[in-house]
Amino acid sequence: MSDYKIDTNCVQAGYSPKSGEPRVVPIYQSTTYKYNSSTEMGELFDLEREGYFYTRLQNPTNDAVAAKIAALEGGVGAVLTSSGQAASFFAVFNIAQSGDHVISSSAIYGGTFNLFSVTMKKMGIDFTFVEPDITEDELSKAFKPNTKAVFAETLSNPSLHVLDIEKFAKAAHSHGVPLIVDNTFPTPVNCRPFEFGADIVTHSTTKYMDGHATSVGGVIVDSGNFDWTQNDKFSGLTTPDDSYHGIVYTEKFGKLAYITKCVAQLMRDLGAIPSAFNSFLLNVGLESLAVRVPKHCGNAMKVAEYLHDNDKVSWVSYPGLKDDPQHDLAVKYMPGGTSGVIAFGVKGGRAAATKFMDSLKLAAIVTHVADARTCCLHPASTTHRQLTDEQLHECGVSPDLIRLSVGIENPEDIIADIQQALDQI
Ligand SMILES: *Cc1c(COP(=O)(O)O)cnc(C)c1O
Repeated sequence: MSDYKIDTNCVQAGYSPKSGEPRVVPIYQSTTYKYNSSTEMGELFDLEREGYFYTRLQNPTNDAVAAKIAALEGGVGAVLTSSGQAASFFAVFNIAQSGDHVISSSAIYGGTFNLFSVTMKKMGIDFTFVEPDITEDELSKAFKPNTKAVFAETLSNPSLHVLDIEKFAKAAHSHGVPLIVDNTFPTPVNCRPFEFGADIVTHSTTKYMDGHATSVGGVIVDSGNFDWTQNDKFSGLTTPDDSYHGIVYTEKFGKLAYITKCVAQLMRDLGAIPSAFNSFLLNVGLESLAVRVPKHCGNAMKVAEYLHDNDKVSWVSYPGLKDDPQHDLAVKYMPGGTSGVIAFGVKGGRAAATKFMDSLKLAAIVTHVADARTCCLHPASTTHRQLTDEQLHECGVSPDLIRLSVGIENPEDIIADIQQALDQI
């Protein structure tokens, strides 16, 4: 399917029914799969043959949707997870363990920052956070002998930094480690990080991919491009796995080594699978992704221009705006648009921000972004409230920041709602 354009793959990739089979990918609501002999099933357990035996490891609905997303990103394989958080955790934990070190951009989702700086730190993995606009020299200095990966967001939530993917990929590769990027906000419709040197892509599919705020989910996609055997950093992939009868993932699975280990070990042991029903809903969302994303971006551009020219607004951050500090990077990495998400501040600080939010009628206050309905959030008092002011600053979130997720309604209605709410201040 990878020869088709992305809008075709959104609709068609991942599932090709044979004659007489269901046109739409079925919901395989079955935990298990029947075999005629124990020998046959034994071969599955030994990873000697392909096939289904237990849904925690593989499920046909989940696999079809994962294959679609792999095609959209241009990767060799993908695995769905029960949430974006699980995807971020698995993506890093698949190659880093206690005693290892990971470099992460500081401009990341608050939940990911907590995952790295609190929970994974307790597991013995040490993180160094770097500013996304760090120079190549400074970035180089952050590497240690035990560094196993570099992590960043292509378009950060909520600070909207555009990642210089090539700069981060170059630094990672010259130190023999992969670049893992969370591509949730741009989606593969606006940016395909593998084309710029990223090795692994993650998503919270909860956002634009699902697009309708129905299902929490995540995905990890492997480009298949990283050579895990180039050094001795990735022994989990290059030496025998005793829990799978001594299989060496890089020898047995080649370009699929990373993603196979992710399923065979992490899914087996940690079990963060999506339900087949959620994957079915995700698939319905994906079918219209290439139609929805440009509409989100077009609407957001109009709203950003409106806010930019409004004297009640103190600042607007939208990489599509020509005078935005992220504009040049956005033009390079996301020429078709960034996302529907805008960050801005209103004059009068916290109190004015609250008044504005409470006065909105069409746009709803929700702890969510990136679905069809326009919504907004004040991160400092909600998603990011665990963070100190200093940590907020490190994540690029100012206390007056309002995150507006522009939906696919008529842009005139969205702007009229914002206008009446600004009038209340
Ligand atoms: C929401 C989000 C996550 C976490 O995903 P969940 O599906 O909520 O677990 C990770 N990264 C980014 C960029 C997000 O926006």
